[in-house]
Amino acid sequence: MGLGEHEAKSPDRMRLEHAIETFLATRSSGTRSDVAFWGAQFDAGLAWVAHPIGLGGLGVSPELQAVADERLLAAGVDRSNIRRNQIGYGIVAPALVVHAASVLQAQRLRPLFTSEERWCQLFSEPGAGSDLAAVATSAVRDGDCWVVNGQKVWTSMAHAARWGLLLARTDPSVPKHRGITAFMVDMHAAGVEVRPLRQMTGEAEFNEVFLTSVRVPDGHRIGAVGDGWAVAKTTLANERTYLGSLLSARTTAADGLLAGWRECEARSDVLRDRVVQAYTELQLLRWLAGRDAARRTSGSVGPESAVLKLMMAESNKRVTEVGLDLLGSDGMIYGSYVIDAPDEADLTIAEPRKAFLRARANSLEGGTSEILRNVIGERVLGLPSEPRPQ
Ligand SMILES: Cc1cc2nc3c(=O)[nH]c(=O)nc-3n(C[C@H](O)[C@H](O)[C@H](O)COP(=O)(O)OP(=O)(O)OC[C@H]3O[C@@H](n4cnc5c(N)ncnc54)[C@H](O)[C@@H]3O)c2cc1C
Repeated sequence: MGLGEHEAKSPDRMRLEHAIETFLATRSSGTRSDVAFWGAQFDAGLAWVAHPIGLGGLGVSPELQAVADERLLAAGVDRSNIRRNQIGYGIVAPALVVHAASVLQAQRLRPLFTSEERWCQLFSEPGAGSDLAAVATSAVRDGDCWVVNGQKVWTSMAHAARWGLLLARTDPSVPKHRGITAFMVDMHAAGVEVRPLRQMTGEAEFNEVFLTSVRVPDGHRIGAVGDGWAVAKTTLANERTYLGSLLSARTTAADGLLAGWRECEARSDVLRDRVVQAYTELQLLRWLAGRDAARRTSGSVGPESAVLKLMMAESNKRVTEVGLDLLGSDGMIYGSYVIDAPDEADLTIAEPRKAFLRARANSLEGGTSEILRNVIGERVLGLPSEPRPQ
């Protein structure tokens, strides 16, 4: 994605560079890792550069986000606000920009970016994962409010979230995709109960969430009544892109592989081939993520996002397996089995044993690899769809 010496800079890029340098110049002293700083970053349009002006962006091409990230990182800008609120930043915010009422956008996006308000995604249920349109959690209108009852599952970081983006059934009498509405739910409201679920890493990153007669104001509805499936599609497409680019952009994995090889006591030709293969895959994924970003325009992520997410998930499982094998028999000893609910969902883990265990979930979260192959087959390649009994 680098700009060649002789390539002309686009007007978008010049505008972005000017905004960054002006912002950094006005914040030349003081900490670059606090709420006031991140708030100013949002106001300067450097939170999500593709968002409209006033909503944390500059309205420039999404591919320029990487340019902004690189420059801000080099200037020492801390990204712990984003790490603490990955779901809010990468998955919920793009849906709010497209579907939420302007008053909600104005109220919620800034504290979301500063991570004063963290978010979780209340989509999956015990009977609705891959078949998400089967959600059974109900929302029944009662005056100015909706009364929500049901159970969600696998809700990452619900224990730390202030808000949840909820899909609920508001009309059971119409075909399933048309009877769903999206809401933002106050995770501290009466009737919301969060129970941790343990993962194979030892951590309880995700949870069950029980919703019992939770009152949600109609003003917290996202999109029109019955339009929740459109909100879900925007959210899921952005989730794939975000997860895909998050993992494929990391250089630590490539560095970790090389360091692991240098220290490896059980080197073999076979292992060397696998390290080279994994290293090459990581490089290819970086280019794929760059191409994916270049193709996107603000607010629109197509079914092609499934390609990046699928490649990332399958590759990350292979890469972390090589990382583990480089440790030889030491790879079997998992020394840091910490049993707790973490404060951040860390997908870019450096420790090889934990990275190996956490990567197994990559092909489930954000849509399983089987489902993504269906999406690619049907919606990208135009192949006949699989039988749908319902
Ligand atoms: C680490 C992690 C974090 C998560 N975080 C969240 C979160 O924050 N919020 C949230 O809402 N959800 C979250 N999820 C849930 C995730 O989205 C679901 O696990 C996923 O969509 C699969 O649903 P399921 O678990 O119900 O599996 P199922 O849908 O029951 O699928 C079981 C198996 O059958 C296969 N399968 C199902 N249908 C088909 C088909 N039509 N064709 C081929 N194969 C099929 C699947 O690929 C899978 O292998 C998380 C999951 C994980 C692992």
